[in-house]
Amino acid sequence: MAKKIRLLVIGAHPDDCDIAAGGLAALYVKHGHVVQFVSMTNGDTGHHQMGGGELARRRYAETQASAGVLGIDYIVRDQHSGELMPTLEARKDVIRIIRRFRPDLVLSHSPDDYHPDHRYTSVLVQDSAYSVTVPGQCPLTPHLMKNPVYAYSAGTVTKSETFVPEVIFDLDGVIQKKIDMICCHESQFYEWIPYNAGYEDEVPKGAKARSRWLEKRFRARLKGFAEHWRDRAIQQYGPRRGPKIQYAEGIQASPFGSPLDARTIKRLFPWLPRKGG
Ligand SMILES: [Zn+2]
Repeated sequence: MAKKIRLLVIGAHPDDCDIAAGGLAALYVKHGHVVQFVSMTNGDTGHHQMGGGELARRRYAETQASAGVLGIDYIVRDQHSGELMPTLEARKDVIRIIRRFRPDLVLSHSPDDYHPDHRYTSVLVQDSAYSVTVPGQCPLTPHLMKNPVYAYSAGTVTKSETFVPEVIFDLDGVIQKKIDMICCHESQFYEWIPYNAGYEDEVPKGAKARSRWLEKRFRARLKGFAEHWRDRAIQQYGPRRGPKIQYAEGIQASPFGSPLDARTIKRLFPWLPRKGG
């Protein structure tokens, strides 16, 4: 039996893993592999009408509903959002989380993402690389024998100049799972983000209407990625399937993990067509 591949996604807030890698996670689960999501903060500042413990608990429940869509674990660190700092203590926490899960691939925000919590999450994850293999650091949590592959997901700001995906994932077969996960984060996508971004009056009333509205928005966003990365998709999936891919996610290797070379790509994503990469 083939070895199960282990994906660990570390995001800043209790919806970031879903946004960044809900599709890749669904692909892993579909092919019998293991996924864990981690939020570095509890998201307790992500609302205009509520906050503190009440919001943290609401958002925790949203993560668990989302995790239930795929049947994965979703860990939330009890740390205020908006205040994450790249401290030694937080780095040690990340080292322990990674060691306990023993991932083959660790995915996090790109270093130039828009929010300080995202950027510091990226720094903390980068700084855990290599250290996860050093037995003298956090000696009570057994170290890894091998540095995992570390990679970045595309930011919420899609126009990042520095993000160039090295592997693209065709999400067409799992898109509904990702949408279902996103729809669990009601406090964010129906309330806080529309308020914060000034389109609150566009959110329809009624559960059905608003989930249809959100689905449309997210499908458009993921279509944008597929179009933006079309050349790479054709290179990877070939001239027949590449041009037809509608929805995509992509990742870019971090220089601090094990190299994401062609052999590793084949090992980490065994369902991808063998077109090189
Ligand atoms: Zn976030």
